[in-house]
Amino acid sequence: GETIGILGGGQLGRMIAMAAAQLGYRCHIYAPETDSVAADVSAAFTCAEWDDAEAMAAFAADCAVVTYEFENVPVGPLSALGTVVAHPHPRALEIAQDRLSEKRFVSDLGGTPAPFAPVDSKLDLMAAVSGIGAPGILKTRRDGYDGKGQWRIGSADDASALDLPDTALIYEGFVTFFAEFSVILCRGTDGDIRFFDSARNVHENGILAFSGVPAPANLLEQVPAARALAAKVAEALDYVGVLTLEFFATENGPVFNEMAPRVHNSGHWTIEGSVTSQFENHVRAICGLPLGSTGLAARAVEMRNLIGDEAHDWATILSDPANHLHLYGKAAARPGRKMGHVTRLTLD
Ligand code: ATP
Ligand code: MG
Ligand code: MG
Repeated sequence: GETIGILGGGQLGRMIAMAAAQLGYRCHIYAPETDSVAADVSAAFTCAEWDDAEAMAAFAADCAVVTYEFENVPVGPLSALGTVVAHPHPRALEIAQDRLSEKRFVSDLGGTPAPFAPVDSKLDLMAAVSGIGAPGILKTRRDGYDGKGQWRIGSADDASALDLPDTALIYEGFVTFFAEFSVILCRGTDGDIRFFDSARNVHENGILAFSGVPAPANLLEQVPAARALAAKVAEALDYVGVLTLEFFATENGPVFNEMAPRVHNSGHWTIEGSVTSQFENHVRAICGLPLGSTGLAARAVEMRNLIGDEAHDWATILSDPANHLHLYGKAAARPGRKMGHVTRLTLD
């Protein structure tokens, strides 16, 4: 079989590699860490700096197509991929890597993000807080995930007392939402788009804790508009593969939060809960194959993340025959680290 290159070595890459293996592909992981959990299940492994053109070129020589499991891959070194096709296009990464460019891009396509303003100084922050109002959230523009690099601002006094980190920031108004959800779609090389059911997502301490389908009716009402926006984003980028947009469901309709140019934690339930998982459809898309059905394979599906260093009793989890346990093979449990997840199907 042909070899798929995956940039990034985390659990998302691991699950892409597992789906790829089922379809007869080999995977080659490129990641700047030696303890890659994706490399555990892959046929080849390059451990290198992101910014190593020689290592990147050697990796590309091995691959029929390259994809990403991590959106903060620096785009500069990707030019060393040469003629090897990368799906999605690096432009999707470039936009999604920066909360400011991502919000501008989605606004230009007709989406509604929370009010926002770039912040590069204390003066900018005070102007943003007085213009947009408080409460709000100050976020690093780049490299944040799982709620890292975010500061809640309750008032102008909070803002003036804050020690600003020396990095590009964005201030956004606090959104009053009644639920959160994501749109996960897959677009094939022929432009065919399939949407997975939108799960209701629950975050705890800025980290996804739970995703459940079907979502409640008041949330489902907002899905068509959110899907239309996500499809516009995919088409504007001539996107190939799985794309995720996160939304807040509010009294005034869906408010765009952020996008991820990749498979997503809020889609892990699709491994058992959808006729074709997000991982398999991503592999099919980037390999130019027809997409599989995104229909539900159960009446209801619930996914819970296993986070941090809390001890879990695997036997108790597995004693419920409706549970499916996924462990990512991470050596060290740390507070806030995603160690695995449990998916529970309701069949009748
Ligand atoms: P991810 O791991 O999803 O990439 P992240 O670090 O990029 O997370 P965000 O998605 O920006 O973080 O925020 C994490 C969570 O914090 C959101 O899902 C939401 O619950 C809350 N949150 C973020 N921004 C806002 C906002 N403007 N108003 C209200 N809540 C917010
Ligand atoms: Mg994010
Ligand atoms: Mg998020």
